[in-house]
Amino acid sequence: MDGMPRPVTPGTDSVLKTGEEYKESLKDGRQLWVNGKKLDTVFDEPALAGGIDIMASMFDDQFTEQYGEATTTFDEKLGKWVGRSWQEPKTPEELVARRKMIEYTSEKTAGVFGRPPDLAPTIAIGIASLLDRFKGAKSAFDECQPDFAENVARYIEYGRENTITAAESLTGPQNDRTHGHAQAASLLQVKKISKDGVWISGAKSVGSVAAQSNEIIFTNLGYPDTPPEAKIWGASPINAEGIKLVSREMLSNPGADPFDHPINHKGEEADQLVVFDNVFVPKERIFNLGDASLWGLAGEATLWAHWHVLTRLMVKSEIYVGCAQLVTEVLGTGHFPGVQGVLGEIIEFNRAIRAFILAAEANADQAPNGTMRPDVTMITAGRLYTIRQYPYIVHQLQEICGQGLVMRFGKNAFENPEIGHHLAELLPGRDVTGMQKEALMNFIWDLTGSSLAGRVALFENVNAAPAPRLRERLFREFDRTEMVNRVKRMANLDF
Ligand SMILES: Cc1cc2nc3c(=O)[nH]c(=O)nc-3n(C[C@H](O)[C@H](O)[C@H](O)COP(=O)(O)OP(=O)(O)OC[C@H]3O[C@@H](n4cnc5c(N)ncnc54)[C@H](O)[C@@H]3O)c2cc1C
Repeated sequence: MDGMPRPVTPGTDSVLKTGEEYKESLKDGRQLWVNGKKLDTVFDEPALAGGIDIMASMFDDQFTEQYGEATTTFDEKLGKWVGRSWQEPKTPEELVARRKMIEYTSEKTAGVFGRPPDLAPTIAIGIASLLDRFKGAKSAFDECQPDFAENVARYIEYGRENTITAAESLTGPQNDRTHGHAQAASLLQVKKISKDGVWISGAKSVGSVAAQSNEIIFTNLGYPDTPPEAKIWGASPINAEGIKLVSREMLSNPGADPFDHPINHKGEEADQLVVFDNVFVPKERIFNLGDASLWGLAGEATLWAHWHVLTRLMVKSEIYVGCAQLVTEVLGTGHFPGVQGVLGEIIEFNRAIRAFILAAEANADQAPNGTMRPDVTMITAGRLYTIRQYPYIVHQLQEICGQGLVMRFGKNAFENPEIGHHLAELLPGRDVTGMQKEALMNFIWDLTGSSLAGRVALFENVNAAPAPRLRERLFREFDRTEMVNRVKRMANLDF
């Protein structure tokens, strides 16, 4: 059905939310603290409100001719248009269509949102891809016996039919890592059980975008003898009684002039510590309750999230190439062989990521439930490549900007009658005014040098598993048998 005429109109032929409806859905009594102060609504913090506006515009884009194809798809069963975020790609074409959605959300945020609305659903889709394993699993507690597989399938339907946004958090709060038991107190744990559900306490950490979403999908990354009470997987509305969101400090510049901060004036996606203080999770929202056979499937389930991260970086690398080219044009430095070499490295970064993505799609296979599964070894190798190269590439881009990245004066200075004319006389670039040159430098500063860019750089380094764990994963998952046999044949080894 993709390729059907767009735009879709809000209302009867779709279940899509408008931006305004998404914003309304966040006025739900959620408990949120920023700088230790409790907010009445998430909109009371300008940086969070600005981030919500960006995501609201994504909801509105669903109804446009330009972005309709990337962001929506027709649900045959429902007979209505739905958001592509919750689509389970079942064919190679649908996998590519979903990737185009990632490209859209990445471009919309200049790649600085790691958890736009199409990210968290990839976790549910990942769990659903393992549905055969969930079907065979059973709650460790006789009192509460959820149907895990049915719950996952229903949750995806719920997300799709209500255009739900979600955070996802696997990571626990940072504390003593000497041994697993040191973390025990902070893991989410079942404290009370009834036939209708469980009450859980503990916390999830760095729940990016949690305060700006409807739901949170949670599990624990535990330790080998994690008790059944902590072997849980599920989802909860963010406004559930007992959930407390404690936000990190804000890093963007909401309300700044768009000239001064082309990216950061729009606000941000922020990260929260999500405290669960005796939160009731109904039976229907439980995807695992103590079953050891499901323990350790998080890596497999997050494959599509890792694919999302890598695709977003591909888009970001395209932005870097564009920035670098423009810098050489406005500074007139493109004729220096050294600068050409830097451009070559940034282009190499982009081409390599694209190759990883295309290879992962070309080698994709079908999970038991039919969902297309990008090649995990290509994704993990790509993630490791980007983690290593990212700081270097940012450094290279900054280097060709020279002083321009720091000597930025702001719109008010250019418009000030006493100093503005000096800036205009002293700072023009090649075929551009000083102000035009600064507009480019301001964009690159927001992207690579600002406080928000610092957070994003940390995010690129460790999100969805840091490099040491990714390397272990590649070691575990890459089948070396054929390569070993080949060497044995070539070297006449008889062992
Ligand atoms: C900005 C930002 C946003 C994030 N958003 C999310 C999110 O939305 N959802 C989510 O679930 N997580 C999120 N994360 C968390 C991220 O997944 C974790 O930071 C990452 O998995 C590392 O875990 P940790 O921070 O608890 O590291 P720690 O366990 O505190 O360890 C610190 C460091 O020690 C090393 N280390 C630790 N354990 C091992 C090991 N077993 N083997 C080898 N080296 C090891 C690694 O270098 C690691 O980075 C986010 C992180 C950041 C910075």
